[in-house]
Amino acid sequence: MRKTRIICTLGPACETSETIRQMIMAGTDLFRLNMSHANQEWVREIVPRTRELAREVQRDVGILLDTQGPAIRTGPVEKQLQLAVDDILEIRLPGTISREKNSITVNYDLIDDVSLGDTVLLDNGVMQLRVLEKGDGRIRCKVLTAGTLGSHRHVNLPGVHVNLPALTEKDLADIAVGVEVGVDFVALSFARQRRDLDQLRQVLQQRGSSALVVAKIESAEAVRQIGEMIAGSDAVMIARGDLGIECPMEELPIIQRRIVKRCLRVGKPVIVATHLLESMVENPVPTRAEVTDVANAVFEQADALMLTGETTAGRYPVECVKVLDRVARRIEQSGGAGYAKDAILDNARQKIVASAVALADSLARSKLIVFTQHGTMARNVSNLRPQHAPIFAFTPNERVYHQLALCWGTYPVLIEFMEEPNATIEAAEKYLREHKLTAPNDGLVIISDVRAASTLVDCVQLREVQECAKG
Ligand code: PEP
Repeated sequence: MRKTRIICTLGPACETSETIRQMIMAGTDLFRLNMSHANQEWVREIVPRTRELAREVQRDVGILLDTQGPAIRTGPVEKQLQLAVDDILEIRLPGTISREKNSITVNYDLIDDVSLGDTVLLDNGVMQLRVLEKGDGRIRCKVLTAGTLGSHRHVNLPGVHVNLPALTEKDLADIAVGVEVGVDFVALSFARQRRDLDQLRQVLQQRGSSALVVAKIESAEAVRQIGEMIAGSDAVMIARGDLGIECPMEELPIIQRRIVKRCLRVGKPVIVATHLLESMVENPVPTRAEVTDVANAVFEQADALMLTGETTAGRYPVECVKVLDRVARRIEQSGGAGYAKDAILDNARQKIVASAVALADSLARSKLIVFTQHGTMARNVSNLRPQHAPIFAFTPNERVYHQLALCWGTYPVLIEFMEEPNATIEAAEKYLREHKLTAPNDGLVIISDVRAASTLVDCVQLREVQECAKG
């Protein structure tokens, strides 16, 4: 059983039912909808279809809606601009008159935010500019990297605080549709501060959604406040596409490792996203350097790896999932970084879970079984990264069942909870036996409620699967 979860972004190259089915069979745990490109009608169609496909093959998948966020983009150009090193490029507000040969508009008034000497990056960091002058509704920049500029290109302002709202009108409308179709997670793009995440949480609550909030870390500003960003979210995504542009490239591996470690310390699921298998957009096999990058994230014991362009626009979406599955399984066998040893256990329930994980680690053939109403106990177990025991998380709540698809090493099972905790435990044991998920002499480390006098208390039990146990 693979521990590291796999997230695939849905898009034109993989949206047929057959390809989605194959991606699920190959091991996809969650699908992401990227609202920078997707439209609302598509969301209404693809979410129920994907859920139905998962049901058909008896698998569980979670759905993550990823907002566009406050993205800055250049305006339309009639003809592509060919820019050489040392050329001047004017970036101006819509409605102003161009004064330079090379001139483009931008959808956001960045003039007050940038300072002379600042760097402006265009087209996902491909073109680098330096700000020479600003004022009168425009900035005048010197081109540092030659390139060709088309319409609606992405603009990054590394290290600059941008005064855009956390959620745009478009984001709010997209979230409303996500809630309507029952997405399990909503990711906030370009989250810059804790209050951005609080705002998203409030919007979800107002709409009656229990979707979890994912902080996309993709700016130097968010990295500087990473403790607060982690505290304000339910899960964290290291969005290496934009983050890799906003930070010096040599810092990116260090930032990734620091964020994974901090998430494990405080018990928040963490996703490593983007460029994992970039060459597979065109080729059926990855480069060995990409395999090493994937292996590194698996070794760090991130909860999930996320494919973006490889599945939305690539020629080999199913093969990409197979590669992640194969590499993750192999690397997991070779051991992990063990950052979970620094996990903070600051309440009694976390301490009980830690004792269960220590017990499971001490037994050769153990399985962890956890009963969870809201997912918290299961996430606590997963966060301690048990050495070899799989985690079977039984829940009566369908939303929690889908949300646990993000947790490292966790296999969610939907069952009804009975009045008597022991009856629920027996039903779970029966489920595991019937699905051949346990074998005689396995040690089952069970974290559940037990009845003590008239109240329920948390408890850890060790049971052995009997030779003669019958379904
Ligand atoms: C990223 O930047 O890595 C990312 C996942 O975000 P997006 O695809 O929205 O740019």
